[in-house]
Amino acid sequence: MSQIRNISITLRTGKLKIDLHKCEKCDTYDCVKACSLYGRHLYRMEYGRIGPILNYDIDEFRRRCIECLACEIMCPYNAIEIILPIEGEA
Ligand code: SF4
Ligand code: SF4
Repeated sequence: MSQIRNISITLRTGKLKIDLHKCEKCDTYDCVKACSLYGRHLYRMEYGRIGPILNYDIDEFRRRCIECLACEIMCPYNAIEIILPIEGEA
């Protein structure tokens, strides 16, 4: 049985989930590049580790994330899901 633990973070207005099982086949780490280019450089990769590593603890990650969706959009395996509230919807 896999020991991979998924990432789930409550952001300032929404939620971010990363299904690390989908990262097992990824060799692009586009999430890391996307957050470095368009976001706040919140991820890094480490040799031998699957998926992105958070550069900060959860509270600091939440504070720094600008909810730009770049990591979700650029991930080639749809491993990242960011759910944001839509204004006007209950
Ligand atoms: S780009 Fe997507 S699949 Fe690849 S490591 Fe990042 S979250 Fe995982
Ligand atoms: S939503 Fe933007 S700032 Fe937040 S983790 Fe993704 S790329 Fe980085």
